[in-house]
Amino acid sequence: MKLIPNRNTALENLDNFVDTNLGDYSKLRNFDFGPNKRSNTSCLSPYITHGIINEKEVISKSLGKFSFSKNEKFIQEVLWRTYWKGWMELRSGVWDDYLIDLKKVKEEFKDDKNYLNAIEGNTEIECFNAWVNELKNSNYLHNHARMWFASIWIFTLELPWQLGAEFFMQHLLDGDTASNTLGWRWVAGIQTKGKHYLASEWNIKKFTNNRFQNIKLNENAPPKINDKNYTILHKTFENPANIESKNLLIFENNLAFEITDFVDKKFKKIILISNNNKNKIIKLSENVVNFKAGLLEDQKKRLQEKSINCEVINIDEIKNLESSYCLYPTVGENLDYINQNSIKNINFLYRKLDQNSWKFCNKGFFNFKNYIPKIVENLIN
Ligand SMILES: Cc1cc2nc3c(=O)[nH]c(=O)nc-3n(C[C@H](O)[C@H](O)[C@H](O)COP(=O)(O)OP(=O)(O)OC[C@H]3O[C@@H](n4cnc5c(N)ncnc54)[C@H](O)[C@@H]3O)c2cc1C
Repeated sequence: MKLIPNRNTALENLDNFVDTNLGDYSKLRNFDFGPNKRSNTSCLSPYITHGIINEKEVISKSLGKFSFSKNEKFIQEVLWRTYWKGWMELRSGVWDDYLIDLKKVKEEFKDDKNYLNAIEGNTEIECFNAWVNELKNSNYLHNHARMWFASIWIFTLELPWQLGAEFFMQHLLDGDTASNTLGWRWVAGIQTKGKHYLASEWNIKKFTNNRFQNIKLNENAPPKINDKNYTILHKTFENPANIESKNLLIFENNLAFEITDFVDKKFKKIILISNNNKNKIIKLSENVVNFKAGLLEDQKKRLQEKSINCEVINIDEIKNLESSYCLYPTVGENLDYINQNSIKNINFLYRKLDQNSWKFCNKGFFNFKNYIPKIVENLIN
């Protein structure tokens, strides 16, 4: 798995995956064969999260190879991400409450031996320790390993899920507010209330090809309980009728201007926003910071090659900018910065895919799934 921070590598990886491994995706995708054998899933999430390649490219490429029905599982997975994003947009209080709870438990657990052993990969559970090391070294984990990891963290090690979600965000190259926070809530049993995900010895052994021993887990724990309900927000995600010649701000979630819906519009200047750890509550690991910096530089280089006026600034500087457009950064720390600093001279621009799909995120994924053929049709035509 080559996770080099540039668009060319992302496109190469997409081509290779579709040509060689997409055909067996639905059969093999749940197997975690280990860090040196990652070809059964796409490993594209670090690029998709940063907008280096987008859902339209990934889905179109897959449909160029196989029919919709043969690709259905893969397309559903790609759109799980869109679903989680929309779900979070409509209930952004979940993210606000997560950060409040995180602050509390961080203080409570800062000297907790059990917690410190977990993040050092120093527990009695061999597979868990291996995943901690893999996460820190390669900054990626297979989806099934993320589920087992989170389940062991919550139900066997009995640690707060909020700290586990923070640990993932610090180390994952694809760290994403919605997929990560809601993925952890789902494992805990508070996303779909009363339904938790319990990792088990047989399941881990089977889907890791018996790579691990000593898997003594709590396989009978009850789900976590959180009685708080979130009212669905009525947001419209509308774009201005006319897009004038102003600056366009781009955060770390849309670092390929050339594939955005706004590529044909004339902007005065494209301003890429770097948000380093100083302004973040969740401090990212060095590898993740470097990956993001590499992607930002690569976007700048591609824009300059096309003689598009652009510059990189630090998030602190957006307070001083004249009225600008901004590709919507989605719920998370960048949007929090804009809101908390009362920055008013920004008009958000929303992607067509998000406009066409977030309105279906008011209920569960099974309901959302019914709209997938329509969403895909709108996306690729
Ligand atoms: C506790 C937990 C935390 C997670 N945190 C993140 C995160 O921070 N960022 C992130 O991008 N994903 C997260 N996921 C979802 C999923 O694990 C990854 O998207 C997936 O493992 C990425 O590997 P891939 O690109 O090989 O996926 P593939 O199987 O090749 O899927 C293709 C694409 O579909 C999307 N996708 C696949 N599965 C999921 C899923 N379950 N939820 C949302 N999108 C999905 C991703 O964009 C992925 O690149 C989390 C899952 C769990 C259980």
